[in-house]
Amino acid sequence: MKNIILFGPPGAGKGTQAKIISSEYNISHLSTGDILRSKIQEADELGLKVKDIINSGNLVSDDILNSIVAEKILNKNSNGFLLDGYPRTLEQSFFLTKLLEKNSININYIFCINISFEIIKKRIIKRSKEEGRKDDNLDVIEKRYLLYLDTTQKVCDYFRDLKKDIYFEFNGDDEVSNITSKIKKIMET
Ligand code: AMP
Repeated sequence: MKNIILFGPPGAGKGTQAKIISSEYNISHLSTGDILRSKIQEADELGLKVKDIINSGNLVSDDILNSIVAEKILNKNSNGFLLDGYPRTLEQSFFLTKLLEKNSININYIFCINISFEIIKKRIIKRSKEEGRKDDNLDVIEKRYLLYLDTTQKVCDYFRDLKKDIYFEFNGDDEVSNITSKIKKIMET
């Protein structure tokens, strides 16, 4: 069983690593960004609300995210899960910690990819052309990056202090394949 939390600001390569690692180890890839984007497709009241929030670069409410993740984690694939994009706030972290404790689920690895804003800008401009995401433009990306530093960085610090022995950081400027190798090496030793 491998349960993983992956952190990183927008454009750090978090989604790319999450896809590679979850497929390599046959674990569920729980991307809250992807789950919310598919919610938007339903175009109901909640979907429209979520669309506005995501496109403006803000965070969707903790209550919505906590209930989405609780349902997914409790129905997970038996090999484990990789959380990509959650928890993003301390509130979500406390909820997750309690949920895991209550259901006797352990986190095995916490990975955090760090990267400078200069590199992110270049990557996001490229990604916006390839994927056409409305939240991939410079104003919104700067807001999302600052929000990450202000909010999610505190979450990384919380887990780093709480779970020192399973917490690992990577430099997001590094090649994708190098970061993957480093992650796999940690998971296989
Ligand atoms: P991502 O694909 O992870 O970059 O997420 C895209 C957007 O979805 C974010 O900018 C937020 O608006 C929203 N989102 C994803 N995960 C969360 C979360 N855990 N808490 C709040 N909002 C989220």
